Parts: sequence; structure tokens; C-alpha cells
Amino acid sequence: MRALDPVDALATLVAFPTVSDRPVTELAAWMAQRAEDAGLRVERFETSPGKCNVLATAGPEEEDGLLLSGHMDVVPVEGQPWSRDPFRLAAVGDRLYGRGACDMKAFLAAVSSALPDLPLDNLRRRLVLAWTHDEEVGCHGSRALVDRLAAEGRTLPSLALIGEPTDLRILRAHAGHTTMRVHCHGVAAHSSRPSLGASAITMAGQVLAGLERLQATLAATRPDGLDPLILDALENPYPVLNCGQVHGGTAVNVVADHCDLWIGARQLPGQPGEELVARVAQVCAEVQAAWADRGGRITVHPLHEAPALLTPAGTPLEALLRPHARDPRPGAAPFATDGGNLARAGVQSLVFGPGSIDVAHKPDEYVPVDQLLAAREVVSDVVRRRCLRA
Ligand SMILES: [Zn+2]
Repeated sequence: MRALDPVDALATLVAFPTVSDRPVTELAAWMAQRAEDAGLRVERFETSPGKCNVLATAGPEEEDGLLLSGHMDVVPVEGQPWSRDPFRLAAVGDRLYGRGACDMKAFLAAVSSALPDLPLDNLRRRLVLAWTHDEEVGCHGSRALVDRLAAEGRTLPSLALIGEPTDLRILRAHAGHTTMRVHCHGVAAHSSRPSLGASAITMAGQVLAGLERLQATLAATRPDGLDPLILDALENPYPVLNCGQVHGGTAVNVVADHCDLWIGARQLPGQPGEELVARVAQVCAEVQAAWADRGGRITVHPLHEAPALLTPAGTPLEALLRPHARDPRPGAAPFATDGGNLARAGVQSLVFGPGSIDVAHKPDEYVPVDQLLAAREVVSDVVRRRCLRA
């Protein structure tokens, strides 16, 4: 099998413009081929046209082992002032620039280039690769993959390395993201006679004011039972609420009969997303009570939940990663990953990868070359120690 240079691999991967609203199939086919070339058994699970997850397995099916996981999609570049073509990898000094360079095609390149050098016919434990779609827009691919494997009665290895950009630090927790739509039903009227109607937009404004008070309450409360180290490591050690979109009304001279708010709530590790949906619903119920006699109603519709992650300290994977880590103490990530969904399948994930989240999602995203090369060595070392015969 031909050796694969990690920088060449990254250049190939960056050239697939796998923005979340576009197909991911060509990149998936390339990743699948690299795994197949290395002797892994590859399956492709299509979830909708143009969207698929790749699962590749080597070694004894019945043995626990190691899962290497990453997402294949990237965030858009529209409206960002890139100083070069974002889908053409550019080496400048010791940095490699391109969309997805760190988030997270560097890890995909690191794994793909490590595979040819690993004696995979000598595995005592199972090695599984899971490449997912649509992580950036709600971890949809990993949710579908976990559901599918559960329906088929199949398991994943109990330990996973997710190579999101952490500057080669070990992260074992992150908040989740639960989204919902709040629908305010008003009563339309001529705007000269507002008392004949019920303004859905005014109701929505009162909901937003109520959410602001709820946020203050949440920010002032520290959850019970969460490891203080993790609490310290979280950027916001409390659930964060955001209203990201508002749509409402029909015309400037009509009392609005409808208004929708799209709310995102970032639940802490160990906290079910439904708990925050219930808190938001409580705010809505209080606003609705004041409008009920005029025909106003508010309904809350949960949309998606990307679960939070909380992997216990001291897993065997942590011990394997520690010698490679820039900081021996595991921390928490400010972003969500596929690890929350993988936890539903009994997988304990650690997030550790090349590049910095500080440059991800931004124009001129890059990964330092030395971190890409280091990630390839880490993958190689961790797979050898966890999965290969001595
Ligand atoms: Zn990512």
C-alpha cells in the first residue's frame, strides 16, 4: 500500500467543499477508499441524498477497542474576508490555510495517513473509524449513526478519540445544544384598533424579556454534583440561552397574529436538554396567562438536542493521550461535538486534536504543520498501544 503524506491528504480533503448544506459523498468516498486500502471493512450509511456516514472496522468484532471519530462537514465561507481560496490548501510559513484545515480535516488527514503504516492484520482489539456528516449544524450524522447501530443491535468500542481542534489538549466535557421554536399565536386586527386583537410580536417581546430573567437566574446558580474542575474549565459554568431568529407579523398596519422565536439552550454536562425546554415553557406559560383573555396562546416545539459530554476522569484512553498532551490535566471544550451522541451508545469520548478552535469557523482558518504531523504520530501510537498485539 502506498504511503500517504498528511499534508497531501489535507490538501485533498480541503478541496472537497463539504459545507454542511452541500453533499458530503465525494469526500466520504475518498475517506472510505483510504480505509479500504488499509484493509478495514467499510460501510457507508446514507441518511439522505448527498449525506452519508462512513464506518470502517478492523480487528476482532467481539473485542472492545478504540473508535476514531470526526466530522466531514465544514462551516460556510460566505461573507468572510478570506485572503485566499478557502478550498485550496495554502502552505505559508509553518501554517496550512484552508476551510476545515483545523476543524476538522487535519484529524481526518492524520488518521488517513497513519493507516498505511499500521499492521492492521495484527490487531488484538477492534479499531473502528466513524466519519460523520452535518456535525456543524446539530450533530445529525452521529445521531443517525448511533440510532442505526442500536436498531441493528451493534455496538461501538467503549473509548473514542474525537480529533476536534484542541491544540493537542485533552478535553473530556462540553455543553450540549438544545433547540426549540416558540410559536406565539396572536389575533389579527387593524392597527388602528389594537385592543380588538392580540399582538403576537408583543407577546414574543415579553417572552424574550422573560428569557433574559431566566438567563440571570441560571447564571447565578451552580449545578450540584458537577466536578468543580470541569465547572472551572467551562467558559460559562451555567446553561446559556440564545434567541437566534425571529419571524413574525404580516404588514406594518396589521396587529401581528403570529411570531416565531428560535431558541438555542446550551445545557451543562449531566443536564438533560428537556430540563431547559421545560424552563423556557414555564416562561411562555407565564406570558400566555396575561394574554389568554384576548385569545393569545404560546406553544413550545422542541427541535433537536445535541447532548452534552461528560467522560469520567481516568479512562484508559486518557492515560494513552497524556504523554502527547500539551497539558496533562483534562479540561472542557467550549463547543459541542459528536461525543454527546456517541455517549448514548455507551462510548466514552475524549476530544483531542490538531489546531485551535480560536481560528476555526473564521476566515483564514489554519492548522500548524507541526500539530498535523504530531496528530498523525499520536493516532499511530494510541492505536498501537490500545489495539495491537504486543
Ligand atoms: Zn468541528
